[in-house]
Amino acid sequence: MAPPPNEDGTTNQQDSTNDQHPPISTIVIIIAMQTEALPLVNAFELTEDANSLFPKGTPWVRYHGIYKGLNVNIIWPGKDAVLGVDSVGTVSASLVTYAAIQSLQPDLIINAGTAGGFKAKGACIGDVYVASEVAFHDRRIPIPVFDLYGVGLRRGCSTPNLVKELDFKAGKLSTGDSLDMTPQDEASIIANDAVIKDMEGAAVGYVTDLLKVPAIFVKAVTDIVDGDKPTSEEFLQNLSAVTVALGKAVTRVVDYIAGKSVSEL
Ligand code: SAH
Repeated sequence: MAPPPNEDGTTNQQDSTNDQHPPISTIVIIIAMQTEALPLVNAFELTEDANSLFPKGTPWVRYHGIYKGLNVNIIWPGKDAVLGVDSVGTVSASLVTYAAIQSLQPDLIINAGTAGGFKAKGACIGDVYVASEVAFHDRRIPIPVFDLYGVGLRRGCSTPNLVKELDFKAGKLSTGDSLDMTPQDEASIIANDAVIKDMEGAAVGYVTDLLKVPAIFVKAVTDIVDGDKPTSEEFLQNLSAVTVALGKAVTRVVDYIAGKSVSEL
């Protein structure tokens, strides 16, 4: 937060210097599935809110606590009230991102989750990627300029030191509301130059860009999209092992963030 200006509208020199590189203090981690969230809830020893911050009736869950001096919040959109499954996909992801930013004013958002990977682009099961860019592959609007709006390309926060020091893979992420991939989706994913595919990233990116909160996308590969196994089978087979890898990766990211400013990442 910017320091309040003096009566004459100026800010104190020291305050404005600090304000350029304030250490990160509050982070929000957006995670679509409970299975993905729980290893991190345990690693950071977070507790579930007894009284929800969010509108009455929403299934959205916040786990929070202090870890290495950081105010850590994990937001999970919860289970669908009627069907009882995780509220995956772009609609829930954008709503919880908006609500979490409004109520918690984080310095940084991390969208963590699983993704499909393209072996043609070098992805393997269990790889952890930090996405440099996010875009949609299922919002086809073939009218000039609306086509670009549909693609909705957004850049993740620049994190060259983090990616290098923690030895993550870097690549582009493509998002759509389906677990499977139609030929039209595939063409858009290729056009997006994506190495991984998920169901939330670009939606989180839309909201963080709108509200000017830096965002990092950390995705672990559960299935190979251009492989020979059916995606849903491979996804379920690898989910628990890969969420352990995701948990370790996100813990390393948060350890790295502690005590640093966004510009140092
Ligand atoms: N069948 C699963 C449904 C989860 S949907 C179940 O039984 O629980 C898949 C989730 O994992 C989404 O949150 C999405 O972001 C991610 N994901 C993993 N692999 C994916 C892929 N190949 N395509 C799209 N999303 C994928």
